[in-house]
Amino acid sequence: MIKPLVAGNWKMNGIAKSATQIINLNDGISGRSANCDVLICPPSTLIMAFSNMLKDSPIMLGGQDCHKNETGAHTGDIAPEMLSDAGAQYVIVGHSERRMDHKERDKDVCEKAQAGWRAGLKVILCVGELNGERSADLTLNVIERQLKNSIPEGSTPENLIIAYEPVWAIGTGLTPTTKDVEQVHSFIRNYLISSLGAEKGSNIKILYGGSVKPNNAKELMSVPNVNGALVGGASLKAEDFAQIIAAYE
Ligand code: PEP
Repeated sequence: MIKPLVAGNWKMNGIAKSATQIINLNDGISGRSANCDVLICPPSTLIMAFSNMLKDSPIMLGGQDCHKNETGAHTGDIAPEMLSDAGAQYVIVGHSERRMDHKERDKDVCEKAQAGWRAGLKVILCVGELNGERSADLTLNVIERQLKNSIPEGSTPENLIIAYEPVWAIGTGLTPTTKDVEQVHSFIRNYLISSLGAEKGSNIKILYGGSVKPNNAKELMSVPNVNGALVGGASLKAEDFAQIIAAYE
């Protein structure tokens, strides 16, 4: 049995006073059955403060991106070792906003994933097709290319999580049909099994991301091979995020 993960990606949102959302989330989920793991990926400026607040909490923290190097002349970048030092246990790599805004290629994503492991972080590696690629019936080709070129050797259920995030569903309120989600997740599962073997490939979590909200979480989370969610907008408000987590009660 795979324990699901509900992860929140705050993107470039959150300042010191956003700590109230973390406190509310912690209160909102405490005492409930822990059927899933819970992760928040705030801006890196907040990781250390949140980590100090969450010492006795099941809520885990992650970074939203990392550089491939440990130190050096890379103005504005953050090393995975810095995320880990601040209290992160996870890092997201290959988010479509990084792929688009920063021209990150599959090869870069692969190197960042390896760097995350070097720092002892679990890696959430995002894949997903553009709207035009879906319309041209290229979804599975795109996903296969991204998986093939960005998953590093040495992947295991302990160090890698895949997030399927159709780019056109991110922040738009649009979601694929559950049939479409099932098709892509099953494709990813089969890919993982054929490339890593049944033992590892069957146990790597595959998250769905793209406009997951309190009102659609239960339906999306019950699709076969969906082992949790990567949530953007709806993770910013503790109440909404707690309701998404409640899909696993
Ligand atoms: C995301 O940023 O990964 C995401 C899925 O965003 P949203 O939930 O807002 O679509």
